[in-house]
Amino acid sequence: MRAFLIVLFGALAAAPAAAQQDFSKVEIKADKLSDTVYMLTGAGGNIGLSIGEDAVFMVDDQFAPLTPKIQEAIGKLTPKPVKFLVKTHWHFDHTGGNENFGKAGALIVAHENVRKRMSTENAIEFLGMKFKAEPRVALPTITFARDSVFNLNGDELHVMHVANAHTDGDSIVHFRKSNVIHMGDTFFNKLYPFIDTSSGGSAAGVIANADRVLKMAREDTKIIPGHGPLASRADLKAYRDMVATVSGRIQRQVKAGRTLAQVIDSKPSAEFDAVWGKGFLNPQRFVEMLYKGVQKK
Ligand SMILES: [Zn+2]
Repeated sequence: MRAFLIVLFGALAAAPAAAQQDFSKVEIKADKLSDTVYMLTGAGGNIGLSIGEDAVFMVDDQFAPLTPKIQEAIGKLTPKPVKFLVKTHWHFDHTGGNENFGKAGALIVAHENVRKRMSTENAIEFLGMKFKAEPRVALPTITFARDSVFNLNGDELHVMHVANAHTDGDSIVHFRKSNVIHMGDTFFNKLYPFIDTSSGGSAAGVIANADRVLKMAREDTKIIPGHGPLASRADLKAYRDMVATVSGRIQRQVKAGRTLAQVIDSKPSAEFDAVWGKGFLNPQRFVEMLYKGVQKK
């Protein structure tokens, strides 16, 4: 709970809308994607679930105050508790429920950099947010460097690390037999993505990972993005092309020595703004974020 309060203080400066969010009004909605896989939406990162004869396997857990509602939504699908809780990355809107689910007996699993970042004080520079170290029960108990496979519920659940995309500790989860892929925040569907360069993220990594998933996915694969509605392979392709086009334009202008104000004035995202610019980042903030990311290199 302490870490969550700090999030709110940080958010006051950066994102007033998020700080005022009233979790009592949030509803958790479950969508069935296959015989065993569900997507839960509420507030914060989208949740993936595999439910079947063996165990409940969950991907991400939104915010701490939502844990009872998430447990209630799962309770309508199965009497079993969450046994495995995989993290797509360390951010607060995907890990807020860790302490609650950890205390309830879930085994938390993540790439080793998630544990490293959550074990100490940490920040998201671009959003002006600072975080304290998390209590031990909220940290991943099981970590991996590259990937991990869970053979559960008649499915093969492949958890694969992605190098330096949204952060340096991202994982995507392929529910292989169910033909579903959870991409965490390496994919924002129909809204400009946030890329956390202060945690080792990069636009190049986001594009490379989108290319990798485009190779894995079929036309009918269901893709759960970190934020935004359930997506298709075509949606992911549109996202990949948007990020590549806008970041390419900005990169060329940075190389030519243009200032941030000049780059913003050139409107490098203009043709994408109507579809992608109404979410968490408006067009100007998106351009500013990419500009600063290129400068960091
Ligand atoms: Zn994130």
